[in-house]
Amino acid sequence: MKIKNWGIFFFVVGYHVLVVALLPLFVVRFSWSALVLLVATYGIGGLSITAGYHRLFAHRTFKAHPAFEWVVLLGSTLAMQWSALAWSFDHRRHHAHVDTDADPYSIKKGFWYAHMGWLFSHRPDVEIKHVRDLHANPRVRFQHQHYLALTIAMNVAVVLIGCLFLHPFVAFYAGFLLRLFMIHHSTWFINSLAHVWGSKTFAKELSAVDNALLAFLTFGEGYHNYHHAFAGDYRNGIRWYHFDPTKWLIWSASRLGLAKELRSFQRIRLQRILVQKDKQLLLPLLHNHWDEMAAEMRARLEEFEHGFQQKADALVALLEELQSASAVKRQWVHLEVRRLKRELRSTWKAWLSLTSFIAKRYQLAHAHA
Ligand SMILES: [Zn+2]
Ligand SMILES: [Zn+2]
Repeated sequence: MKIKNWGIFFFVVGYHVLVVALLPLFVVRFSWSALVLLVATYGIGGLSITAGYHRLFAHRTFKAHPAFEWVVLLGSTLAMQWSALAWSFDHRRHHAHVDTDADPYSIKKGFWYAHMGWLFSHRPDVEIKHVRDLHANPRVRFQHQHYLALTIAMNVAVVLIGCLFLHPFVAFYAGFLLRLFMIHHSTWFINSLAHVWGSKTFAKELSAVDNALLAFLTFGEGYHNYHHAFAGDYRNGIRWYHFDPTKWLIWSASRLGLAKELRSFQRIRLQRILVQKDKQLLLPLLHNHWDEMAAEMRARLEEFEHGFQQKADALVALLEELQSASAVKRQWVHLEVRRLKRELRSTWKAWLSLTSFIAKRYQLAHAHA
């Protein structure tokens, strides 16, 4: 990798050296107030990136009140990841060209390149045609034009606030150095670790993975396989128990009137796509290993898929009917919906065990061939 952005390179290397060199001094002067400053600024900077840059601007998964936009546009300067416009331009290319040369932080170029090396090599100028919708937003444009001044002002302000109740060195270390180090690496983990270490639940053909531990460190962004498969969903962790504070923040903002039109995938639509994808993925495997068992598995795969899609079609039709049904009819439709959902649940479970059996048996066979 050839370093071309020397300014960024020296800044990143320089502050890493300072974080390590000054750590003993910080440990000696540590106080709980310092931890509060660290966690608060880490939270504001980190969530501004995940809820603001990522899910609002880059993917447009919901609409936000101008006040919400201002908060994330200013809060994100604590994360120092360039303007929302530049960030979204890179990120949209990442999704459109993932795992290829056109992906700005492609994991195919190596772990460290995807993690941080890409920042130091040449970065192309923002092509407005890919972020025209954002460029039309005067607040996003303002932040882009005055990014450096806003970043300096916000970071100085945070450290000065820290100085009100902390020793100036501690305020600088916890409220700037260490906080920046933590936000940078947690964001970078999504481009590196979340494309390497975890499980592929939704899009088995991509390098992106789901990893609950990463989700914990990154405000919910660790469910990255789901995210690449369904980037238009405002959630990354779709189960209620998935740790996704960004999703909870957006949902809470919608309750307060600060966000609206939250986009999410209906579970049944999601399952239909997955069944289709799984079948397409597994059929070639069965073709490659044409034994007696494979013939039977192939028939079962077709039969299950057909059965599942039929029930799913019926459920979607009923859910649509429910919206215009009269009060009396609604009761009957409700019962029917419940019955179908029960049936679909057991078909889904059977589908999962059938597909994981086929994947294990025939991938293993392939490995031994
Ligand atoms: Zn994304
Ligand atoms: Zn990714």
